[in-house]
Amino acid sequence: MRLTQQAHAALAKILTPGDHAIDATCGNGYDTCFVAQQVGPTGRVLGIDIQPEAIRATRGALEQAGCSGQSILVQDSHANMMAIADEHGLHAPMAVMFNLGYLPGTDKRITTTVDTTIQALNAARALLAPGGALSVMSYRGHSEGAHEHAAVVRWCQSAKERGDTVQQRTAPANGPVWSLVIKPRSGPA
Ligand code: SAM
Repeated sequence: MRLTQQAHAALAKILTPGDHAIDATCGNGYDTCFVAQQVGPTGRVLGIDIQPEAIRATRGALEQAGCSGQSILVQDSHANMMAIADEHGLHAPMAVMFNLGYLPGTDKRITTTVDTTIQALNAARALLAPGGALSVMSYRGHSEGAHEHAAVVRWCQSAKERGDTVQQRTAPANGPVWSLVIKPRSGPA
């Protein structure tokens, strides 16, 4: 199974109808649609992407999947996630997904970067409900990606030291790495 499918399978066990969730990098909307289907019409998903093309593609995908009603899309940097979530009444998400890098078929220079990704991971971890999960797909195959991936690994190590459960799976041949970080159900926020 591909790592993206493994990420969906893990989050399908955590998300239930009525939950709140965030897709921090909408791209073509595959992950946003998946999350919107899991939380159902009584839940809410906030999708964020910096590119208008991604917001358009995701809006179309959500309409096709019949999931627009439970979805809010915002064109902005995920570094501003805390303020965006607050503005849109998105509280204590059970899952926050990141699929880092650039949108295939568009300008590769518009890619996630270390500083904004780490800011967004910190915001996501603070927002997350107890027992909730952060799913991060990072890419080692291009130079910004390798640098960012190393920062994600360091961030996950600190999360583990603070008491989160962290699992990592690696695709062969310098392929993507999937990190799953679960916030404890009780104990320090
Ligand atoms: N999850 C997507 C899907 O299901 O199709 C794929 C995401 S794609 C690999 C990465 C996305 O991150 C791109 O659409 C890009 O525009 C977006 N991105 C880059 N920098 C960003 C930022 N600072 N904040 C939010 N999105 C960003």
